[in-house]
Amino acid sequence: MAEKFQNFINGEWCDASNGATFENRNPANWSDLIGTFPKSTVEDVDRAITAAQNAFNSWRLMPAPARGEILRRVGEIMVQKKEFLAREMTREMGKVLKETRGDVQEGIDTAFYAAGETRRLFGHNTPSELPNKYNLSMRQPLGVCGIITPWNFPMAIPTWKIFPALACGNTVVFKPASDTPRTATELVKILQEAGIPKGVVNLVHGGGSVVGNAMVDDPRVAAISFTGSSLVGKTINERAAKYLKRVSLELGGKNALIVMNDADLDLALEAVIWGAFGTTGQRCTATSRVILQSGIHDKFLKMLVDAANSLKLGNGLDESVDVGPCVSEAQRNSVHEYTLIGLNEDKAKLECGGEPAKGGELDLGWFYKPTIFSGVKPGMRIEQEEIFGPVLSVIQAETLEEAIHILNDTVYGLSSSIFTKDVNSAMVAIRDIQAGIVYINSATIGAEAHMPFGGVKETGNGHREGGWTVYDFFSEWKTIYIDFSGQLQKAQIDNY
Ligand code: NAD
Repeated sequence: MAEKFQNFINGEWCDASNGATFENRNPANWSDLIGTFPKSTVEDVDRAITAAQNAFNSWRLMPAPARGEILRRVGEIMVQKKEFLAREMTREMGKVLKETRGDVQEGIDTAFYAAGETRRLFGHNTPSELPNKYNLSMRQPLGVCGIITPWNFPMAIPTWKIFPALACGNTVVFKPASDTPRTATELVKILQEAGIPKGVVNLVHGGGSVVGNAMVDDPRVAAISFTGSSLVGKTINERAAKYLKRVSLELGGKNALIVMNDADLDLALEAVIWGAFGTTGQRCTATSRVILQSGIHDKFLKMLVDAANSLKLGNGLDESVDVGPCVSEAQRNSVHEYTLIGLNEDKAKLECGGEPAKGGELDLGWFYKPTIFSGVKPGMRIEQEEIFGPVLSVIQAETLEEAIHILNDTVYGLSSSIFTKDVNSAMVAIRDIQAGIVYINSATIGAEAHMPFGGVKETGNGHREGGWTVYDFFSEWKTIYIDFSGQLQKAQIDNY
């Protein structure tokens, strides 16, 4: 019998109102049924929003450092449960254990950071233009926040949103991706164990078009924080615009890494392999293009292909495995379609991979061979479109300026990197690359909880997760004037 999981609404675990469920399976072994989850309805979302709305008043009035105490306890419980959470996450979505441990660690760091920020929700205190008058500004919570998340970082991304939302005094309705409902459930159980009051955090499982849309369409939801594909992000933005709703969008990427002739090639190789094939290439920050300066092109390409061919595929619970499966059969099919586009439409040269990985335990899940195309030209579809799988395009450039131009020439702008020993090249890259994140001599992937995270162009709509910046999204400014002159002083009329 598969374990049966539930929604969490108003402090109670409950089924979908119509009793419908969906299955969650292990992508490394599709016969391993993890459990069934509620396929929620619009009525379930409505109940969750009502609960969050009712809980808002007392939660917003709780002193922020007291809210921070709960978040600190959340972090402590996550530390205790780290290995369990990592293993369940690997089973649920496939990435290898060292990466799922990192995903949980990001959540832990975010919890402790958020706990600290509850003592630093700074406003401003600035001189007035009038005598005997104080001018202040302070942060206020927004109300009910809708949180919609993807499956590739099933712990880190929800914590990036939920913890700062709570720290600022908001209540939450959380809809996780239907490929990773288990990790989301564990996160909410931890919040419950840490003492979050009823109704402050509500979990509603189910499909994006029903649960997600119902959250976006409800005027009682003050803000939507969404991470996912640019396609879905745009539809959310359009729907939410009707209510002038605040929306944070963290969307797709087509990240590139430049290797200059003077680079440390061994270091660059490690970074490209990690960036392109870590999480099976299913990261918004994945290195999906590598731009090689001509002097090292042939040598580095050979190093890359040899390294990609030596990666071990398998179940991520095996510590010796480098690359896990794609998250689903549909995702693997989509990756393979891009291989066919690379071969037939783009006419690039397939150096390795290019097909599902088969044989032995690989037949049990959705594995795909690490794939490298060389001879890729700017503008080809595999060079422009987000593939979200283990496929790397190699492009040649003569100069730094050409390499940066190729890097910038996509609709996305999330992460980027350059390998060079020349400080001048590094500084030009920092200045001219159009991306939210620039790494010097490191992989395109990886984020620190206390730094802003997000991208430019179609990667988002200008907000940032992480760091101090996300607190701007989850709070509203209130301006306060305190006049103790005993007279009606008129700003802008009789001041000068
Ligand atoms: P997705 O857009 O398919 O789904 C994301 C979430 O949105 C899921 O919970 C899904 O159920 C929900 N959803 C789907 N349709 C919806 C709708 N019409 N209304 C409301 N919600 C809806 O993305 P995915 O496949 O889960 O994740 C992969 C994508 O996420 C990639 O494009 C990747 O680049 C992006 N991503 C971006 C970042 C970032 O920070 N920029 C981080 C991770 C992933």
